[in-house]
Amino acid sequence: MERPGYLKGVRLPRLERALASRQQSLRELIVRQREAVEPDYPASEPAGDEADQAQDRERKLIGGDLLDLYLAELGEVAAARERIATGTYGLCADCGEPISARRLEAQPTARCCLACQARRERFSAIAPQIR
Ligand SMILES: [Zn+2]
Repeated sequence: MERPGYLKGVRLPRLERALASRQQSLRELIVRQREAVEPDYPASEPAGDEADQAQDRERKLIGGDLLDLYLAELGEVAAARERIATGTYGLCADCGEPISARRLEAQPTARCCLACQARRERFSAIAPQIR
């Protein structure tokens, strides 16, 4: 496939491999995390006193947050691979300008350029409820 000029500095095959392997390990992490937090798995015995049970609930809560993080990252990784496949990888989702090779190397799932990312973060700092 012909590679657009703006991806010149990007080691795309390396990024693709990195994304593919991250996707694989996220899937494994998600399976393991589900096993840890979902109530039916494994056949959990409500053993222990109340303090134990509270601790267990807390652990599941934290585990659930982690699961959400893994799922969100998996979505980002899948979307990045999709962009590589469709040839839109490396272009900012907001302004359409190329994302710097350095940024992509550091964060292969980056959707926007640094300037737009900074703007997004400023915005969500002002209005965290609007994402
Ligand atoms: Zn941008």
